[in-house]
Amino acid sequence: MNQMPQNGFTPAKSAVVIGAGFGGLALAIRLQAAGISTTLLEKRDKPGGRAYVYEDKGFTFDAGPTVITDPSALEELFETAGAKLSDYVELLPVKPFYRLAWEDGFVFDYADDQEDLDRQIGAKSPEDVEGYRRFLAYSRDVFHEGYEKLGTVPFLAFKDMMRAAPQLMRLEAYRSVYSKVSQFIKDDQLRQAFSFHSLLVGGNPFATSSIYALIHALERKWGVFFPKGGTGALVRGMVKLFTDLGGTVALNAEIDEITIENGRATAVRTRAGEIFKADLVASNADVVHTYAKLMGKSERGEKHGAALKKKRFSMSLFVIYFGLKTHRPDIAHHTVCFGPRYRPLIDEIFKGKELAGDFSLYLHNPCVTDPSLAPEGMGSFYVLSPVPHLGNAEIDWSVEGPKYRDRIFDYLEERYIPGLKDDLVTSRIFTPEDFRTELNAHLGSAFSLDPVLTQSAWFRPHNRDDKIPNLYIVGAGTHPGAGVPGVVGSAKATAGLMIEDAGLGTVPA
Ligand SMILES: Cc1cc2nc3c(=O)[nH]c(=O)nc-3n(C[C@H](O)[C@H](O)[C@H](O)COP(=O)(O)OP(=O)(O)OC[C@H]3O[C@@H](n4cnc5c(N)ncnc54)[C@H](O)[C@@H]3O)c2cc1C
Repeated sequence: MNQMPQNGFTPAKSAVVIGAGFGGLALAIRLQAAGISTTLLEKRDKPGGRAYVYEDKGFTFDAGPTVITDPSALEELFETAGAKLSDYVELLPVKPFYRLAWEDGFVFDYADDQEDLDRQIGAKSPEDVEGYRRFLAYSRDVFHEGYEKLGTVPFLAFKDMMRAAPQLMRLEAYRSVYSKVSQFIKDDQLRQAFSFHSLLVGGNPFATSSIYALIHALERKWGVFFPKGGTGALVRGMVKLFTDLGGTVALNAEIDEITIENGRATAVRTRAGEIFKADLVASNADVVHTYAKLMGKSERGEKHGAALKKKRFSMSLFVIYFGLKTHRPDIAHHTVCFGPRYRPLIDEIFKGKELAGDFSLYLHNPCVTDPSLAPEGMGSFYVLSPVPHLGNAEIDWSVEGPKYRDRIFDYLEERYIPGLKDDLVTSRIFTPEDFRTELNAHLGSAFSLDPVLTQSAWFRPHNRDDKIPNLYIVGAGTHPGAGVPGVVGSAKATAGLMIEDAGLGTVPA
């Protein structure tokens, strides 16, 4: 990208970014590296957003993302800033990528080993060996079209969508992930194994576009990684890079208003009344919160906020972080514990008015990759259960949370972690209500807007506001959506626009 002022424009000199999630951090790094003096303002006492870190009794708990994919996106981010990712954080490969386990005892270890995959698939359902290969070819095709070509493109105009339409039609993007997987794979549990991925970014496999099947190819291409020291070490590496570049981070700085004057964003104001003026304002905070609350006094904020509230939002999560006095090396780093029901449970998670009686869980045991996350000989874990967001199910989590935790602990103790309760040193829960209050997430959604086709690409909130030319949005609520690679990609798209608008470069067509 050309860093010199173009066409006699005076380059804008300052930007504020509201929110230090992965999207906000990646954006701030790119802006600062391009010569825009950038201030990152974060509500909480630590950066990271969903990737916050809890420390308790010698245990380190990554609050959110643990499956780090597409390291090339992070490497490219650091290179843009003239640095090397490996000088800031070490990414450790994780094998198997995931262990998938069902109640009937079927276990599938999924990793980038074609022979082993063929062996496992063949043992379960011989006819699916060939079907899996065809699914992989499809997944690679969508990955190329949907991720490599469009993952970091800002969809500002409908014509951008129209340009992508022929490929989307060819790939049958109007079908769901599950329906597409079922075209290739016959066995019910293998269908679950190759369709659950969209849940990792908040998408219902039965409703989300088959474009999300690309996650499979993405993992096969680069692998699955875990930062040494936990995901928090990656966040710290990004903060260090940003401050090494001269950027400023302010924590405990909750913004309560973006000032709009004469159709432009001119400043942001913290709850404590501090004002930060800037030439460019970007928000990594929840999109509904940004428009309806932070810009609620402006006509644009009021109108667009109300429109966004009518959209469909992704599920929420119930998470338990817990430390055990024993290390459990027999439990894989990432285990998906499938419950007795698949589709009916997912239906209830996305549309249900109450908590289902059963659950499917994701269990995180990072100490098998990095024992430093717990005191010697001990284990740091988290387990999450997808649950309805607060707009669907009005659950009083202060009452139900502890009960739900006990149900999950009983289940884990019976099936996955014998002696869990005797070994328990510490635990804490994070509920949909916490997503709402701690992260300002609309309806407590864990992944922002539901990534269905009609809310993807151009149909998602745009990286630059349609009416306010120096206001930008970055993160899970924009294209391409949730997940670390997604929001890091959205930061690239947003940074391109901001740098161009500042007169410092051009965005590739
Ligand atoms: C439990 C869990 C597990 C996950 N696991 C994975 C995984 O394994 N792999 C993966 O790729 N993805 C995973 N995800 C998804 C991924 O974590 C998110 O999509 C991504 O981190 C969101 O990043 P973001 O940039 O949109 O911002 P967020 O992380 O949402 O950060 C937004 C920031 O804005 C701040 N903020 C909000 N309002 C204000 C305000 N008014 N003023 C100042 N600051 C404000 C918030 O405090 C927050 O720090 C997981 C998510 C969760 C919740």
